[in-house]
Amino acid sequence: MKYVDLGETGLTVSECGFGCIPIIRLPKEDAVKLLLYAFDQGITYFDTANAYRDSEEKIGMAFAGMRDKVVIATKSLVRNAEGMMGQLENSLRMLRTDYIDLYQLHQIAQEKDWQEATGPNGALEAVMKARAAGKVRHVGVTSHSLPMAIKLVRSGLFDTIQFPFNLIEESAKDDLIAAAQEKGMAFICMKPFGGGVIDNGAVAFKYLRDHAGIIPIPGFESREQVDEVLSYYAQPNAITENDLKIMDHYRKELGKRFCRRCEYCQPCPQGVMITPAMGYPIVASRMSPSVAVGFCKKPMESVPLCTACGSCMERCPYDLPITEVLKSNHALYERHLKETQV
Ligand code: SF4
Ligand code: SF4
Repeated sequence: MKYVDLGETGLTVSECGFGCIPIIRLPKEDAVKLLLYAFDQGITYFDTANAYRDSEEKIGMAFAGMRDKVVIATKSLVRNAEGMMGQLENSLRMLRTDYIDLYQLHQIAQEKDWQEATGPNGALEAVMKARAAGKVRHVGVTSHSLPMAIKLVRSGLFDTIQFPFNLIEESAKDDLIAAAQEKGMAFICMKPFGGGVIDNGAVAFKYLRDHAGIIPIPGFESREQVDEVLSYYAQPNAITENDLKIMDHYRKELGKRFCRRCEYCQPCPQGVMITPAMGYPIVASRMSPSVAVGFCKKPMESVPLCTACGSCMERCPYDLPITEVLKSNHALYERHLKETQV
């Protein structure tokens, strides 16, 4: 495992981090063992969020006695200062620490997110105050929207940007990664397996390792998964003709039905929460159906409001059959709901 600079923060982290959504599914003791196992194998960067149920608490339990050996990043979707301060204090408590290495404004996708979070009494104000008080060391941001991500990078307000990047979501490779690097910001790569749809891990990581200066944060829920991903880093990267064919196959197979969470389709005139509802199967597979039904209740229960007006599909740059996907995701949600209630 190599160690790389986290942009210009002065922090050094393992070249591959640990995304902490999947540990939601594990009992506390198992999650702690897995986090410590990953640390023993060389992983030092752990990324979580206030919204990931008890993930912060499990990280706190694992690393309380060795806080200075790991770099912990967390984040919040809250857009106002008061709410953000509450979430931040809660994260500190759950993580059993008096500082967070990297605090990220989570999923700034639309202009209104940006205006609210950076305006007067916005979330950024609270994070900056926490930084001045030493509770936060560095400030980052996450997004799924390319134009917004470029704007966030150019704003000069953040130390890191977290954005989806993998062999089927390649939009960052043209301008965003270079723009972040020019600004001295770390590029943290979320969804290295396309949120779970790329099942050939070796090829997924060959693609990522072919792009210098990015830090992937795959989610892990077993030692075997940690071992597997770290084995990709144990050898020099070499992409074969066959790998390129596999990558193309994924692009052709998945490209037309994979929601990038860019949010161009929103808002829906009926109030359907399109983006989170589009991603329901991925959340269910990452968190488990019983957790996902609670986590996604609001968006999934907005789906029946759809009148099939089609305006979202006109705006989706990937021509996704949104109404069809929403219908089938809602059926899956109902099935999970029934199974959970049994
Ligand atoms: S449905 Fe299309 S426009 Fe909407 S978030 Fe997904 S990819 Fe973006
Ligand atoms: S098709 Fe349905 S989800 Fe899309 S904008 Fe119209 S009502 Fe909303």
